[in-house]
Amino acid sequence: MKKRLCIIGFGGMGYGFHYHQTVDHDLIELAGIYDIAESRVEKAKKKGIYTYSSLEEVLNDKTVDLVTIATPNDSHLEIAVKCLEAGKNVICEKPVTMSCAEYRIMVDAAKKAGKMLMVHQNRRWDADYLAMKKIYESGEIGTVFNIESRVHGSRGIPGDWRKEKIHGGGMLYDWGVHLIDQILQMVDSKIETVYCRMSHITNDEVDDGFKLEMHFENGVDALIDLGTLNFISMPRFYMQGTTGTAILKDWSDNIQVGSCREWYEKEVKPVLAGSGLTKTMAPRDDVTLEEYEIELPKSDVYDFYRNAVDVIEGKADQFIKHEEVMRVLKVIEASFESDRLGMPVAFKEDC
Ligand code: NAD
Repeated sequence: MKKRLCIIGFGGMGYGFHYHQTVDHDLIELAGIYDIAESRVEKAKKKGIYTYSSLEEVLNDKTVDLVTIATPNDSHLEIAVKCLEAGKNVICEKPVTMSCAEYRIMVDAAKKAGKMLMVHQNRRWDADYLAMKKIYESGEIGTVFNIESRVHGSRGIPGDWRKEKIHGGGMLYDWGVHLIDQILQMVDSKIETVYCRMSHITNDEVDDGFKLEMHFENGVDALIDLGTLNFISMPRFYMQGTTGTAILKDWSDNIQVGSCREWYEKEVKPVLAGSGLTKTMAPRDDVTLEEYEIELPKSDVYDFYRNAVDVIEGKADQFIKHEEVMRVLKVIEASFESDRLGMPVAFKEDC
């Protein structure tokens, strides 16, 4: 039987994503939505969707198996705990909570209720990230020692609750939570240090961008560079290994790889660079360097809800695990601390 879902928060993500993901789902049936804004309720009614008049009505509806929480970040904790205590399975938007301590409360509530709690880290299905992860793991460019992940926009921070601290605004919470998660899924090693500098060019209250460096025990350096005042963007991904380099210019481009076939060249001719000559920085010849492209893989984010249903039925482990979510939140906490101190901080994996 299909799982009956209530979407709580019918805004950009609740309507724009979760409604469209689940409306014709083979395993899920939409019971209705709940939103505090009249305009969103009207929108749902016009679509013929049942609208709950209060959270209590959702909690008391025994036919609802699952809720998806897509409200502003600061409201997730209270809503999720109430839903779990009422015996609902919960999918919660990211960032699930504002801190590790809050997430622990949510996880405890889920364990006590014996219900599923899964965070919507949908960017684990991003094809660009999956392709780079494959290159990292396959050894295609040798042993990777540097990863740079960039997301750039030019319109500043969105003008809604995201620009307000009280609602858990700022780009580290908004995008950082995805990009950190991707790096942690890629690099299977302990984090030694975290260094983060946030920008406040368009907004004093919360960060409108950040540069976050993580140094891992296995020697890998990862940089996450998020900016909202970039009128020309930098490449989405740049990865260096001991025998090659991979670059992805834009979300759905092919990846360009430069792979070193032989280290020694017969002759390196100096090239003009600015007002001087250089051999060190001269491009390699095509005998020692092979250049080619890799297409992005197909991926299906619909698998998130398939997994959620399997978890509820006890048929699978959840894709997005509590310890993974907790580790991302720890990196976020360390990033705030590093920005406050203006220096790198040691990362405690087991706090
Ligand atoms: P939004 O402002 O567009 O929508 C939020 C909706 O929640 C609004 O309709 C608002 O009226 C409603 N709401 C607020 N408080 C409520 C409450 N207490 N009970 C019921 N409804 C309430 O915001 P959004 O962009 O849809 O973001 C919502 C969540 O989704 C955030 O946590 C955000 O970080 C997340 N998000 C995730 C992704 C992703 O890729 N996973 C993308 C965008 C947003």
